[in-house]
Amino acid sequence: MKKTVAVLAGDGIGPEVVAEAVKVLEAVARKRGHEFAFDERLVGGASYDAFGDCLTDDALAAAKGADAVLLGAVGGPKWDSLPAAARPERRALLTLRKELGLFANLRPAKVWDPLKGASPLRAEIVDAGIDILVVRELTGGVYFGAHERGPDGASACDTMPYSACEVERIARVAFAAARRRRGAVTCVDKANVLETSKLWREVVGRLRDAEFADVALDFMYVDNAAMQLVRAPSRFDVILTENMFGDILSDEAAQLTGSIGMLPSASLRGDGFGMYEPIHGSAPDIAGRGIANPMATILSAAMMLRHSFGLPAEADAIESAVLGALRDGATTPDLGGYSSTSAVGDAVCARIAASGA
Ligand code: NAD
Repeated sequence: MKKTVAVLAGDGIGPEVVAEAVKVLEAVARKRGHEFAFDERLVGGASYDAFGDCLTDDALAAAKGADAVLLGAVGGPKWDSLPAAARPERRALLTLRKELGLFANLRPAKVWDPLKGASPLRAEIVDAGIDILVVRELTGGVYFGAHERGPDGASACDTMPYSACEVERIARVAFAAARRRRGAVTCVDKANVLETSKLWREVVGRLRDAEFADVALDFMYVDNAAMQLVRAPSRFDVILTENMFGDILSDEAAQLTGSIGMLPSASLRGDGFGMYEPIHGSAPDIAGRGIANPMATILSAAMMLRHSFGLPAEADAIESAVLGALRDGATTPDLGGYSSTSAVGDAVCARIAASGA
């Protein structure tokens, strides 16, 4: 298979971790007979320094023209004083998400067996298993509704609009993902109060009955979901939810695993195109020292193979190689290890090379 990946490494540790993910994708291509071309562009503060803009038309065109985008991280203290709209996070990240039409955010939160001790939860809760996929609607809801301040400045109003079409397309992503996992979706809402949540329940229930009768569906209020995530996280397979609830719950779920350097993400559109990035930022405090954990970015590359390229066996191969490397102690200092960023990437590549064809 031939595919082009737009590589937007960004700032801080972005280029360090992205280099390892590219290395791993090349190892997979060699092993399985694929051809991945990497189209690199500056983005974020690095692009601002070079071109006076955190996202150039050229970089956006490269992202639009590729089969998928691999992003590192953007931002850092050097660019914090730029006007809000010109800053890396807003100009680069939000523009990319909007321009590429990425409405579905997938964030798996999983405790890797060798890293169980890193979770802040009690051992018996972790031992029951934490392997959750949060599917968050990314381009609708209260973040994109009208924001208004009353004329006297003493009142304010944010609106949370959703259409049935927006709910249905994200629900379809969640059900399809559940089919590839343990076959259960929990739709999280506040249907005892919000009209939008009632619409969500109607649309999600209807879609499940019509097209995904093999997938289990239950509904849960968001306040209860926040509690169940720390009380009994093993009860969740796929959590489907709207933009703001997903923003909050996905950070809570991520924290259950205890290690920000291990968590990948995918932002997808309906046709399989996606942007893949670790959930962490540019970590300026450790940038340039060769100690950043590249696993989140490597696992984001695995998500790219699964969701955008239709290569589930190759994605599995990367995830098995990550598990093998962790078991053998190839870990960076954030996990208590002594390996460098590139040594961890090498360890994953070696396991891919040694795996069965
Ligand atoms: P951060 O995620 O960059 O760092 C938080 C802490 O986690 C730091 O101590 C850092 O050293 C550590 N850390 C993060 N990733 C790591 C890794 N792979 N390996 C080892 N340790 C890791 O969050 P922050 O410090 O709040 O933000 C730094 C900059 O990144 C800011 O400019 C912020 O706006 C930006 N940011 C960008 C994105 C993005 O590009 N998607 C996301 C979050 C933050």
